[in-house]
This record gives sequence, C-alpha cells and structure tokens, in this order.
Amino acid sequence: MVRYFANIWHAFWTPLVGMALTWRHLFMPSVTVQYPDERWELPPNSRMQLFVNMDDCIGCAQCERACPVQCISIETVKALPEDVKETSTGHKIRLHTTKFDIDMAKCCYCNLCTIPCPTECIYMTPSFEDATPDRFDLVYHFTQISPQHAAELAEKARRAEEEEAAPKAARPKRGIAAAVAAEGD
Ligand code: SF4
Ligand code: SF4
Repeated sequence: MVRYFANIWHAFWTPLVGMALTWRHLFMPSVTVQYPDERWELPPNSRMQLFVNMDDCIGCAQCERACPVQCISIETVKALPEDVKETSTGHKIRLHTTKFDIDMAKCCYCNLCTIPCPTECIYMTPSFEDATPDRFDLVYHFTQISPQHAAELAEKARRAEEEEAAPKAARPKRGIAAAVAAEGD
C-alpha cells in the first residue's frame, strides 16, 4: 500500500522537477544560436577551408612535401625565360603550375602546408560551410591553366629542352672527329 502511494507521489513530483528546470531556463539568457541566420564569431586563428592564390604560387611544392596526409597534388612545367613572371612578393615564377589540387576530404587541418610557403600564397580562410553529398566535390582545383594549355606548355618546354641539349650532344662528336682527324695527320 505504501509503495502504491509512493508511486503516485513520484509520478506527480518528477514532472514538477522537469518543469522547474524548464521554467528556470525560460528566464536565462539563450545559449543556442539560430544557425544559419545567426553565426558565432570564430577565433581569428581558426583552421578552415584552404585557399591558394595562384598569382603568387611559384610551384615549389614545399606545401605538398609538408602535408602529412598527401592531400595536395601539384604538377609543374618549366617556364621558358620569356614566360618567367614575378609574384607580388618579388619571387620569380619559373614554373607553370599545371595542377594544384587539394583534397579537403583528406585534410586534417593541421596547417603545416602554409608554414613553408615562401610567398604565403596558401592559407586558411574563414570558410567552413563547404559540406557536400559527393566527396569528390571536396577536391579543389586551384590552377587556372586548362589541360589543353598545360599540354601545350609541356610540349613547348620539351622542345626547348631538346634545342638546349642539341649543341651539347654535338660537342663530344666534334671532339672525336677532331681526334680522328689529328691521328690521320
Ligand atoms: S592543413 Fe595539413 S592536412 Fe590539410 S593540406 Fe595542409 S598540410 Fe595537408
Ligand atoms: S609552397 Fe606556396 S609557392 Fe610553393 S607550391 Fe605551395 S602554395 Fe605554391
């Protein structure tokens, strides 16, 4: 019998405890944010979406080597002397960066890639709302060079290299020919 009345008291008391908590929070300042209409101001050193300013990238691949999870992929082609440009920091751009991809699905936001960059052109941005249903959409392509243009640049560099190598290749032959001629004398 005692247990019966205790259960009735319990059923009556516990909602009151819950409601007391609810009523208390009604008069306290709100701690929730109505995202996306409201946003928290994130700390200035927050690590989020990476960005590369390709106008200042010299294609040195130091960021690629520093990345512990290999999520940066860079390909370059040697620039001809007349195509060498300069970054805003005064560094010579002697390579065309024909591929600069970052797979943000693999990125662990360690920030190690930004540290060795000589021109400070790779950096974390305040953007963090880049979720997508397809993980391949998280591979960001930063190069401004199209695949066709990249192939043309590679061909141009190959031809220039051949032209540069030709006189060197001819030089030992002349030496041998001269030696043979001298022996004949
Ligand atoms: S933040 Fe870290 S994991 Fe992400 S690309 Fe840079 S080095 Fe790689
Ligand atoms: S370290 Fe900087 S300059 Fe070098 S390839 Fe990476 S982003 Fe470009």
